Amino acid sequence: MAFWGDYHTHTVYSHGKGTIEENVIRAVRLGFKEIAITDHGFKHFTYNVRRMDWPVMQKEVALIRQKYPMIRIYLGLETNLTSVTGTADIVDEDVKALDLIICGYHKFVRPDRLYDVCTFFLPNLFAKSTDKQKPKRIRKNTDAYIHLLERYDIDIISHPNYGIQSDVFEVARACKHYGTFMELNGKKVSMTDRELERLTAEGTSFIVDSDAHSVERIGDFSVPLKVVDRLGIPYDRLVNWEKIPDFRSQKKKRDHADG
Ligand SMILES: [Zn+2]
Ligand SMILES: [Zn+2]
Repeated sequence: MAFWGDYHTHTVYSHGKGTIEENVIRAVRLGFKEIAITDHGFKHFTYNVRRMDWPVMQKEVALIRQKYPMIRIYLGLETNLTSVTGTADIVDEDVKALDLIICGYHKFVRPDRLYDVCTFFLPNLFAKSTDKQKPKRIRKNTDAYIHLLERYDIDIISHPNYGIQSDVFEVARACKHYGTFMELNGKKVSMTDRELERLTAEGTSFIVDSDAHSVERIGDFSVPLKVVDRLGIPYDRLVNWEKIPDFRSQKKKRDHADG
């Protein structure tokens, strides 16, 4: 009984300590069938993958794949949600090149326009749970997530509601519609118990990831599993438990290849 993959890990190319190969070796040792390398997207202020490094990473992964044929390696990115209109910091060319697309809200991101600073980043940064703007803000953030799912084949929403408040039920329904997975993050689960209980009752599936920033933390799902066990979320709702998730962007590429 085991998880078959960890789909959210960082390396030295962004905020992680290990190299791509070290992450892969660790995943092989843990007996995983799959691992994703998902460094921070291009517009993260401090820990972004540099555009110039992206082709280097692609070449590196191609070599590592030959060395470790026993594991499937996805080269993805943890992209950033950059506006209320649901844009992320990737262009069409990136989408073609990525094996897996995670997207999450992060505070310190270079926005496209000053307008996005005023309408999206600052209101969330200074949000208080008691303020009068809360319902309006939740509406906007929910729409941002939903537009994001409409715009791109996002495979995973990382740490939903971390640093941002949205209506997770609406987001989950949109995720189900498009085939995107909501993450139970290895560092912190930001959805409340009540939200998770209701999501479970409504049939939501989750992906469990480590979000490892060091090699030793790869495959460490202890934080989300504590929540899963405490709330009695059935393991068959965890899409990487004893199975390989069917990722939305991969499905789209397969359909495209089949004509
Ligand atoms: Zn993140
Ligand atoms: Zn991350």
